[in-house]
This record gives sequence, C-alpha cells and structure tokens, in this order.
Amino acid sequence: MLNPSTIIMMTSFLLLSLGGCNALNKNRTCVGELSNPDVPAETLITQGTPVDASHTAATADLVIKNAEVVTIDKDNPRAQAVAFKGRTIIAVASNKSVEKYIKEGVTEVIDAQSRLVVPGFNDAHIHFKFIDPDYIDLRYTTDPGIITEKVREAVAKARPGELIRGGHWEHEMFYDRQWPTKELIDSVAPNNPVVLSRADGHSVLVNSYVIRNSGITKETPDPFGGRIQRNPVTAEPTGIFMEKAKALLKYGQIPVRRTPKEQQEQRMRGWQAAFDLAMRSGVTSIQVPSGDDFDIYQKLKDAGKLTLRVYSGGSLTADREKLRRYTELQKRYPRDGNWIRFGYLKGFIDGTLGSGTALFFDPYVDAPENTGLAQMAYEELEKLVVTLDKAGFQIGIHAIGNKANHWVLDAYERAQQLNGKRDSRHRIEHAQVLGGDDIPRFAALGVIASMQPTHCITDKRFAEKRIGIERCKGAYAWQRLLDAEAAVVFGTDYPVEPINPLEGLYAAVARKDRAGEPGNGWFPDQRLSVEQAIELYTLRSAYAEFMEDRKGMIKEGYLGDVVIFNKDLMTIPHDQIMSTKVDYTIVGGKVVYKRKGIN
Ligand SMILES: [Zn+2]
Repeated sequence: MLNPSTIIMMTSFLLLSLGGCNALNKNRTCVGELSNPDVPAETLITQGTPVDASHTAATADLVIKNAEVVTIDKDNPRAQAVAFKGRTIIAVASNKSVEKYIKEGVTEVIDAQSRLVVPGFNDAHIHFKFIDPDYIDLRYTTDPGIITEKVREAVAKARPGELIRGGHWEHEMFYDRQWPTKELIDSVAPNNPVVLSRADGHSVLVNSYVIRNSGITKETPDPFGGRIQRNPVTAEPTGIFMEKAKALLKYGQIPVRRTPKEQQEQRMRGWQAAFDLAMRSGVTSIQVPSGDDFDIYQKLKDAGKLTLRVYSGGSLTADREKLRRYTELQKRYPRDGNWIRFGYLKGFIDGTLGSGTALFFDPYVDAPENTGLAQMAYEELEKLVVTLDKAGFQIGIHAIGNKANHWVLDAYERAQQLNGKRDSRHRIEHAQVLGGDDIPRFAALGVIASMQPTHCITDKRFAEKRIGIERCKGAYAWQRLLDAEAAVVFGTDYPVEPINPLEGLYAAVARKDRAGEPGNGWFPDQRLSVEQAIELYTLRSAYAEFMEDRKGMIKEGYLGDVVIFNKDLMTIPHDQIMSTKVDYTIVGGKVVYKRKGIN
C-alpha cells in the first residue's frame, strides 16, 4: 500500500488540501504557520500550486544553477537549477528558465559548477543531544588497553568520587572479541565510579566501585528483562550489566565542581556543537525517538538559530501524568508545523544483537541457552499499543529479533482490529531480523520499517556467528521489504552510529564494512541504488513523520531544504561515498552551512 506511486498520489491530494488552506485563508494564519512568524505570508501561497511567473514570487531570494539536481520527485527526477523564495522552493528548472527568477542585487546565486544537489537528509531515528566534552568516546577502539588509558586520564582530571562516563565501545571490534570486564578499569579508578556504555547503549561496563556501591554481589538475581554478566567460574559480576540490570546500578557520585551557570553554558556549547555537526553532515531534519529538549529547540527557534526541523516524541507509557504532558506538547507542537513538532511514542520490546539481548524464537547459535530478553510481556505490549493507538498517538517500537518484530506486528494488528484502520503510520524501529512471513505484514498493516543502514555493516561482522546464516536472510532486508511494498525509512541511531548520512548511503549500496572488502557485499541482493537510498533518507523519512506533502523532494512548493555535495554520489565508486563532503546545507531557503574555502 505504501509504494512510491501511492505516496505521490497521497502527496498530491494533501498538497491540494494544504494549498487550499493557504490560498483560501490569506487573512487567517493556518495552524502550521504559527511556528513560522519569520516567513513572509506571500511565500506560503505558492505551496503546492504551479508557479505563476507573473506572481510576486517571481524574484527568488536564492538560486542554485549549473547543478546536477536529483529531486527524488518521480514526476520531475532531474533538473539543473532550483529557485527559493522565503522558506520554500518556487522553481525546479533548467538553467535557462531559472534566469527569470534572478534579479541582480536581490537574488543570491550559487553556481554549483555541476555539483550534486539533493533534498536535505532527514534522520528518522536519532538520539540528538548536546555533545559532552567530558564524555570518553571509545568509538572504533580495537585495543581494550586504550579504555584503561582513557579512564586513567579522565580520573587524573577528576576529584575522587566524581562520575567518569564514556561509551561507544564495541567488543566485536576488539582484537580478541571478548567482553571487557571491570578489571580493565579497577586499577586506574579505585576511588571513582566509572560507567562506559556499549555502542548500542544496551549494556554498560562499570567498575568495582559502582558494583560495591550498588550492593550487588554474586547472590544478586537477574531482574526481569535484565542480565548481570557473571564470571563462569566464580559467579562474580564481571562489570557488564545488560538492559534492565542497568537500573540496579547506583553510582553514588559526588557532583561535578561547576556552578549552575557554568554547567548551563557548557550545555549550550554542547548543543551548538551538535547542531554544527548536523549542518556539516547535511542533516536538515531529525526524528528523535523520545527526548524532552523542547526548551532548547524553542530557545534556538526564538533566536532564529534553529537550523534543523525536529520531530521529537515521548515514551510508550501508561502513566497518566506523562500522557497528559504529551497531549499538551502535541497541541503546542502540532503536526502541521514545520520546525518543532511532537513525534511518536517510543517503546522497547527487546535489546540488541550485539549485546545478545535481541528476542528470537530460537536460541542464539553461539549461546544455546539464550533467546534474548523481552522487555515486557506480550500482553502488556498489546495493551499499551491498543490504548495509545486509540488515543491517536503514532507509536514506534524498538524491535530487533524476529520474535520481537513478530510481537510488535501482532500488537499493531490487534490495535487495527479493535480500533479500526486509520492513517496511523505506526513504526517498528530497527526491524532488524525479520521472519519471512512477517515481511509482507508491514505493507498489509501499513507499518513503517524505520531502519539504520549502518547497523548492517557494523553488525554483519558478528550476525552470522550469533544467529546463523538462515536468519540472516531476513536481516537488514530493506530490499525484501521494498519488494513487498513496505514503507522503509532510513536513519542512523546516532550516537550509536555516526550521524553522517553518507555512511548510511555507503552501507545501503555496498553492504561492506567501512574499510571496504573484496566481493559484492553481505547479502548483495539487498543492496540499494544510491538514488533509492537517498529517497529512503528524505521523502520516505518525511512520510514517517507525516511531512511528505511538503518535505523530502526538491519540488515547487516544498520546503527549501537541500544539500550540495562536492562529488556526484550517483556516479562515483562506492569507496568514495564516505569521503564525499557537504559543500552547502540549506534549510528553509537559507544557507546554514558552507564548507570553508569553497565557492
Ligand atoms: Zn535508538
């Protein structure tokens, strides 16, 4: 039901209705425009209607010409030029026909010199947060000894008792592929609590200080949905706490020596660093699973400094107080806004493949007693989904293993039976390992598969070892889902994976690890074309947040969010994709990033 032509049909339909809103109510502000007081009213009128050259919009504020424009618009896939006025695109044209929108002294013109222009990237699953300078980044660590060294350095700068935090380690990347243990950090941090997250955030390594302070011994049982990893000989906790076992930890840290003002300043600097990173990467929209940073987004927006569009949701909960707040946020940040919008409610049904906590029907190949860890009983999941669907929320549930995905599809199906079918666009976050019978259910139920291509090239190193080759046929199976007409959308799961969308494009088209490797990639029949991958990262992602009527294509009337790259991703060899650079990022018709030294 969600094939591209359906989306386009729906798009045209919605555009007509949106155009109606703007055209018929010139003297009234449409709800969605409340959050955009900075936009001149006349720029809204062109939305969804053919551009009339005699209209006042005929002079563009910004024009990109001499470009290779890949529009992701099936009706008009390629162009040479794009004209913007206010926040929207007013023409997608040839070099010749764009001239009439250019007025000297008024229109800023970017000569793209044959560079590639695509819609801005929309990361459909991102844990966007301020970048914390005190956090120890252990990404791509291959030698566990580095962890010891980095913790030693951090302890030297801290007072006794201050919490030492870090993460992104991935033991499958260590040369010995062994889980790290507390012994790695105990000797360098005897008087400080230390917590270091695994790359997936589903397991942590802590030192003996934390274990002692938490009152955890070898007698402590595993909590429901959690696992305390134990030494096979002594049964002592190794320092690894998985899933809900993390909740047992008490760090007992003393507060960091900073005034509240200093802390606030550091936080704002960290946020700015995160926004800068997104701009440099060509990310113009983000979908945050559950975050409560509306104050930050609002503050930046009020200051005219918000440089990406945010869809930020809450958590899947039965807590009335929380739900009341979500309903308020929905009203304050409605779907027809364009900058800050309340998103979906996110829940978890299992863990991850890397931590061995993803939920499967059959045991793990490398751990025959393990089938993963359900984070709640099926009955509880169903009850939550049915209730929150009825309340009108969009729902997105983290599901990795085939049983986890099966359960979530069952719960969505049940909600549809009980509450009726509507345009709910419920999502499965990750949809990593699917049983063959479940693949067609995505389209049948209208469920979105919200996937992260980089997870494939990170996990493929151990996926077969963990679950065997048969189950891997349904793993990261985006082409099989697309063939079954499912809506597949792309994101990164940042900071689990890097924010750079080009790593995602590379993963989607090559299915090889980042260093490159000989051959055709892992399950090469699941590879996508570059253009397909861009579509999943732009137009389809916009669909997942109810914005495909105005975002995700370079099209007249659409929001002016585009990226200019220094190389033509469509034609370069795969191994050059990740080193390609963003030259310009344009959001709402404004240049928010221009790479140093380019023109
Ligand atoms: Zn996530």
